[in-house]
Amino acid sequence: MKTIGLLGGMSWESTVPYYQTINRVVGNRLGGLHSAKILLASIDFHDIERLQHDGRWPDAGEILVDAARKLEGAGAAFLVVCTNTMHKVAPQIEAAVDLPLLHIADATAEAIAEAGLQRVGLLGTRFTMEEDFYRGRLEAAGLAVTVPAESDRGIVHQVIYDELCHGKILEPSRAQFRRIVSGLVQQGCEGVILGCTEIGLLLAEDDASVPLFDTAAIHAERAALLSLEATD
Ligand code: GLU
Repeated sequence: MKTIGLLGGMSWESTVPYYQTINRVVGNRLGGLHSAKILLASIDFHDIERLQHDGRWPDAGEILVDAARKLEGAGAAFLVVCTNTMHKVAPQIEAAVDLPLLHIADATAEAIAEAGLQRVGLLGTRFTMEEDFYRGRLEAAGLAVTVPAESDRGIVHQVIYDELCHGKILEPSRAQFRRIVSGLVQQGCEGVILGCTEIGLLLAEDDASVPLFDTAAIHAERAALLSLEATD
């Protein structure tokens, strides 16, 4: 079994389900008391969030690079960045270490292809919904991606940073997210990507009439499976 290097804490609320899912998948595959080999670098999200909103992405990236180097030195076989948004600096991390990085958008695109879908909605932070580093990667994988209108993108972004990242799961926000998802379905989306690792804390399958692709669950499951693959 390979050791998984998690870059988490962004926010820690969504790193908890990563830890559970990875261990459950490894335990189910190997049976008995088997559990995953994990190294976790848990970042102080306060610093990252400030740098994101000040547009200082290379500085935020340096914090992740420093953590990734520590994971590499400690024996991780590959890296898993437990946030969609911080994949904006994935190239900076990949350039700084020799470890492969399991990209969350690739894992998600694969899961959607396996489900036989092509037109999907995308919910996430403004960075994830509006910039090319994430949408572009999904589109390059052959998906047609729709995001909510400007005012709804504002609601989703604000709920992520002001509620979900603080562990606040509020009913009025769930109702808003349901409404936004249903608007995407009306625009022809066959599925919706929960493209922020905290949204799975708010929405479940029965909140929508189409499949929801929870990026945290998908990413964690694929990380667990990759850790069990034979090395050649
Ligand atoms: N965890 C969230 C994501 O998946 C947002 C927090 C962040 O900005 O990293 O994008």
